[in-house]
Amino acid sequence: MRPSLVAANWKMNGSGDFLRDYAERLELDQPLKIDVVLCPPSIYLAELVRALRETGVACGAQDVGIQPSGAHTGEIAAEMIADAGAEWVIVGHSERRIDQNEKDDLVATKAAAALRAGLKPIVCVGETLAEREAGHEIAVVERQLEAVVDRVDLDGLASGAIAYEPVWAIGTGKSATTAQAQEMHAFIRDKIAHVDAAIARKIRVVYGGSVKAENAEELFGQDDIDGSLVGGAGLDPIQFAEIVHAASR
Ligand code: PEP
Repeated sequence: MRPSLVAANWKMNGSGDFLRDYAERLELDQPLKIDVVLCPPSIYLAELVRALRETGVACGAQDVGIQPSGAHTGEIAAEMIADAGAEWVIVGHSERRIDQNEKDDLVATKAAAALRAGLKPIVCVGETLAEREAGHEIAVVERQLEAVVDRVDLDGLASGAIAYEPVWAIGTGKSATTAQAQEMHAFIRDKIAHVDAAIARKIRVVYGGSVKAENAEELFGQDDIDGSLVGGAGLDPIQFAEIVHAASR
């Protein structure tokens, strides 16, 4: 499939000044040919949505609470994210799996909460370096994927994406080789095809892990790499635009 989604995860970076400057400097060929998404810290979502109005660029949150409302201090409901004008949400990012000890079951519940509110989930899966060195990368990704696929509405899931993000490639400057990425993406698609072949053809499987303008084109040339979830390079509007343009060719 041609790449059709490039999303930036700003992680815990940014400020009001940063987002206004970013929105001014982000120059993309219009009309957009693919889905382009910026995921700032949630506190900046509503302002970023306003700043990007008329550009076709959508916004997403980096995490979501599982309840729709109520006595859950500090949580942000999927419905609130949608109310702020965002359309997407990242779930199961490895930094949350590691820092917040999020387990597969919780990630699946978060994906279901996102779909309940009409948000498109970007479900992150990926192995650690120790897991890859032990030869367990396929088993780990399979387990993470199954938890979500068994739990959520697949048509809804196909509105979003699966992001393969090997933990050892995130923020390290060490991207997976195109062959390593393609192999895992093909596995993910095949695994989904065993449940529903039509969904497997439709769902975007995007790659994340030290994607930059320089390596984007080669990654996007692979059959099963349908775009990217970008971290560090997504903090620079010039570099992010180059990645979007590489995916749009
Ligand atoms: C990420 O945080 O999802 C990510 C892929 O980061 P980076 O591009 O910096 O490796």
